[in-house]
Amino acid sequence: MRIVMKFGGTSMKDGNSILHCANLVKKFAENEIVVAVSAMAGVTDSLLQAAKKCYTEQSTGFIKMFIAELAKRHYDAVNTAVDESHRQRVIAHIDRLIDELEKVLLGISYLGELTKRSEDYILSFGERLSAPIFSAALLSIGVDSLALTGGDAGIVTDRNFGRAKPIPEVYTLIKSRLEPLLTIKHTVPVITGFIGATEGGSITTLGRGGSDLTATLIASAIDADEVWLWKEVDGVLTTDPKIVPEARVIPEISYQEAMELSHFGAKILHPRALEPVMLKRIPVRIKNTFNPEAPGTVISHSCESTKDIVKALSLVEKVAIVNISGAGFDFAEVMAEVFRRLANEGVNVIMLAQSSSELNLSIVVDESDVGRAMRPLKHMGNGTISVTKLEDVAVVSAVGAGMAGTPGVAGRIFSALGKNGVNVIMISQSCSEYNVSFAVSKADGKRAVKVLHDEFRLGDS
Ligand code: ADP
Ligand code: ASP
Ligand code: MG
Repeated sequence: MRIVMKFGGTSMKDGNSILHCANLVKKFAENEIVVAVSAMAGVTDSLLQAAKKCYTEQSTGFIKMFIAELAKRHYDAVNTAVDESHRQRVIAHIDRLIDELEKVLLGISYLGELTKRSEDYILSFGERLSAPIFSAALLSIGVDSLALTGGDAGIVTDRNFGRAKPIPEVYTLIKSRLEPLLTIKHTVPVITGFIGATEGGSITTLGRGGSDLTATLIASAIDADEVWLWKEVDGVLTTDPKIVPEARVIPEISYQEAMELSHFGAKILHPRALEPVMLKRIPVRIKNTFNPEAPGTVISHSCESTKDIVKALSLVEKVAIVNISGAGFDFAEVMAEVFRRLANEGVNVIMLAQSSSELNLSIVVDESDVGRAMRPLKHMGNGTISVTKLEDVAVVSAVGAGMAGTPGVAGRIFSALGKNGVNVIMISQSCSEYNVSFAVSKADGKRAVKVLHDEFRLGDS
């Protein structure tokens, strides 16, 4: 079998966990395996915070401290996960990267400028530091391996820094780089998740959580039999266990359902992760690094028909609503213009609802995109169209293929919410009927999820 395995940040907590993950790879080493890794737990967040801090205040003292802590964390991991014969080479590699990062942070701090491009560059250090350690851990336990960056592996993207999209030729490029390593060298490539490079060689990132997408892109390019995403949960659960601890594992879920869940905020999967594997019908397993015997969840084509009405619930908390209203316009024309402008700005539209008797369009966007969404819309219709925003909003989505053709599901959802005093601000359901999504105030988001988890008895086995 040919398997692409991805190890997420929580699976890469420290040297012991990295060694544990390397041993999981070894256990399946009779297969052809490609590994994609995330940064060590919390490292991407800390790089982002450091970049922002350097941009707002000049503090060489902070940079020194940050760099020393980051270096120590990675040295410690090397000392635990890598045997002596491979240690020196990895440490030298880490030293070069740490040195480069320090210079970049100092540059940001002196210039007082942080572009999306430099932010991606800084974030890339998380995976660039972790992949060589993982690869050396494999070598230490007798599994031949080679560490590569996303760019080295052929993950070429556009220049949409922060949320870069792979170019159409990416599959051919990846195949040409990885195939010889698997079939001629018989080695396990360990690739930095989350990051790619533009055709000119600038480092890009695929959006937070993007190492899932790295894994599925590779799987599609090399025609893998399966993708295994190793995380710290037993699979895709009926909802985020951090919101509802009784959430239950879903053994099988369709691509479409899992896509709806991830699009509507379920952190378990990057929102675009299933796109590369769907056409080729490559199954994606979610497995628990710390409970590897558990069957996990398989996301595949073959479980399209399901009896579950509502199978799972997701919650996005950091969103806002942009409202566009006015009277006496051609609705289709205004819609076309609104979405053209949003697309030009690269705004991520999460959900929308409209009434067309008079123009009234509500669009849910990421909280961080509100400014970018409002700016180009402000001057539409020479000021006769009003554009307002509503912040502190959350979107809840109920997902399940069984909703299609089952009458009364929406009624059940909204009467349960009503009985529990949750006010619904906006509702959306497309004809596919794979999901019913609605917006509530942020303060009500988690409660809405709990109410529906109980209503549809999702915690019952
Ligand atoms: P990794 O870094 O390994 O990719 P993530 O942290 O990105 O892992 O994703 C796992 C997290 O996703 C879990 O800790 C859990 O809190 C969250 N999550 C959200 N929705 C779900 C869900 N439906 N099922 C399982 N986990 C979920
Ligand atoms: N390290 C990146 C992040 O924290 C990518 C990933 O973990 O998938 O978003
Ligand atoms: Mg993730």
